[in-house]
Amino acid sequence: MLEMKTACEHCQKRLDHEDEAYICSYECTYCKSCTVSFDTTCPNCQGSLLRRPPRQARKEGSPSTVSRGDPLK
Ligand SMILES: [Zn+2]
Ligand SMILES: [Zn+2]
Repeated sequence: MLEMKTACEHCQKRLDHEDEAYICSYECTYCKSCTVSFDTTCPNCQGSLLRRPPRQARKEGSPSTVSRGDPLK
């Protein structure tokens, strides 16, 4: 289970789920300005920092099937 961190590990800036945040493959989390200053490389593990998707994306089920509203029974 991937835990959503709510603060930048470098400057402790609060990162809400809607905020632009960057994570490395080991789940280090940074704000945008720190990520830019690190040149998108994690200072802890040298991994690439990637943009965290806003809010936890639902992996199961496509939106089209959810919004249909067809009764199953
Ligand atoms: Zn930061
Ligand atoms: Zn890292």
